[in-house]
This record gives sequence, structure tokens and C-alpha cells, in this order.
Amino acid sequence: MIPAVRLPDGTMVPALGQGTWYMGEARASEADEAAALREGIERGLTLIDTAEMYGEGGAERVVARAIAGQRGRVFVVSKVYPHNASASGVAKACAASLKRLGTDRIDLYLLHWRGRYPLTETATAFERLREAGHIRFWGVSNFDTDDMAELAALPAGGICATDQVLYHPDARGIEFDLLPWCRARGMPIMAYSPLGQGGKLLRSPALAAVARRHDATPAQIAIAWSLRDGATVSIPKAASPEHVRQNAAAASIRLSAEDLAEIDAVHKPPRRKQPFAMI
Ligand code: NDP
Repeated sequence: MIPAVRLPDGTMVPALGQGTWYMGEARASEADEAAALREGIERGLTLIDTAEMYGEGGAERVVARAIAGQRGRVFVVSKVYPHNASASGVAKACAASLKRLGTDRIDLYLLHWRGRYPLTETATAFERLREAGHIRFWGVSNFDTDDMAELAALPAGGICATDQVLYHPDARGIEFDLLPWCRARGMPIMAYSPLGQGGKLLRSPALAAVARRHDATPAQIAIAWSLRDGATVSIPKAASPEHVRQNAAAASIRLSAEDLAEIDAVHKPPRRKQPFAMI
């Protein structure tokens, strides 16, 4: 069973989903990538995160293959490029994403990062899409606390559903102020790159020690860590079906106070404001 996380309006979404960055970049691997996503859907990883940027539309086409015939089971998240975030650009980009995704509605549509268009213009464009039924919810990505405060002060700003940000044991800067800011408003964050993109993080001796106690892998511990507060949606990407199975199983790992202390000792929580990290 995959736990659920509450959006600000009370809608529940799966806490553990699937990322798609680097999918859809080569036609030859699209069938395998779609199969991996389907394997995840079967295991309850029914939230899928994509973007018009990934594979320049290729990842959205892979998602379309994965959700064909089972659209109703899946919560689809996509993102608009900042250079498309004008009033007319958002509408056009959304229409193109819907076409590639083979659906008539995106469940959650995010501004990928902040660009040159005024936030009020983008938020109003998102609201129009929501009113027209093309999207169910909208939010942002890579926004620091001051950006979130600026957005929240706008007429449409209070409807923002989430902020999707970099978050894993070696990237904890958001714990200092952004995470408490979102918590206070009942807004979940979405943790991207929860496995540190499969790099150095997964060789952490601290994660390995905790993993041994749970008969798990360091990647599974990183996922369990990202889910530990019940108010975060974690979106690891896995193109390998074995990784998908391991990731789904990680949702049932409960980390003890001792586990968390052991991780904190090496991957330290921030004690002051950190420069905002994004990739
Ligand atoms: P992740 O931290 O999810 O790491 C992905 C890497 O980890 C892949 O190489 C994958 O291999 C490997 N992996 C997956 N599962 C396991 C496992 N159980 N054991 C060992 N290795 C594993 O990195 P991403 O950067 O892809 O982040 C996840 C998603 O977040 C993205 O795909 C995207 O959807 C989103 N994102 C959003 C950003 C934003 O700006 N909003 C920025 C970055 C990411 P393999 O594929 O071979 O299975």
C-alpha cells in the first residue's frame, strides 16, 4: 500500500510517484520506459511526474503509452517552461502537452522554474486552464520561500497546490525555512531527485548501515527518508523494472528515531539559511 498525502484542498494523492526525466529521448527505449512506468502503476505508484522539457516532449509521449487504457488510475503532473509562462504561452504549451499525453486533463500543472514573466500573469493563466477543466490543480517548482510568499500574496496565489523542489539527504536546505512555510499552509512539497540522481548519495555509509537493519538497499532508505513526514510527495525515476519494484516496496519502510539520528549525523540538517539548490 502506498501512503497518501493531502493537497491544500483536501484531495489525496499518492506520496510515492514516478519521475520521467531522461525518458523519451530515444525512440528505441520508449517501449521499455513505458513498461517500467506501467510496472510502477501496478504497484500503486500512480502519480507520474513529467514536463514538456523532458526529451522535448518525448517523456510526455512515453507517459501517454504508459497510461493508455488506464487514465483514470493515474495522477499526471506536467510542467511548463518559464519561457512559455505568458498568458497565451501557458495555454498553448498546455494544449501541446495534453496532445502528447493523449488526455484531456492534466491533474497538476507546474511552472518549472521562475522566469521573466510576472507571476501574476502565469497564475492567472493557470486559473483560466483550471476553470476550463484542462488542469485540476496548479503549482510551481524550484521556488524558494521568498518566491512562495510573493506568489501567495497574489489574488490567485492562494490556489497554488505544491512546490516541487530538490530534496534528499545531501540537499536539505529547504528544511530551514521553505518546508516550515509550506507546512504552515497545509501545502505538501514534491521532492525531486530523492535518490540524488543515483550518484554519490547511494554510496552513503550511513544509508548503508540503516539499510542493513531493514534488509533494504540505500536507495530504498533514501525513499523512506523522503516520505518520513507524511506531507511530501517523492518522485524517484526508474527506467529499470527491478528499481521500480524496489522503490514501491520502500513505501512500507518506517524509519526509527535511531535510523533518522544516524542519517542526521552524516547528512546534517541545515542550521541556517542555505543558498537555494536546484538542478
Ligand atoms: P532520482 O533521484 O530519481 O534518480 C534517478 C536515478 O536513480 C536513475 O539513474 C535510476 O536508474 C536510479 N534508480 C532508481 N531507482 C533505483 C534503485 N531502487 N536503486 C538504485 N538506483 C535507482 O533523479 P531524477 O533527477 O530523475 O529525479 C526524479 C524525478 O524528479 C525526475 O525524473 C523528474 O520527473 C523530477 N525532477 C524535477 C526537477 C524540477 O526541476 N522540477 C528537476 C529534477 C528532477 P534507472 O533509471 O536505470 O532505473
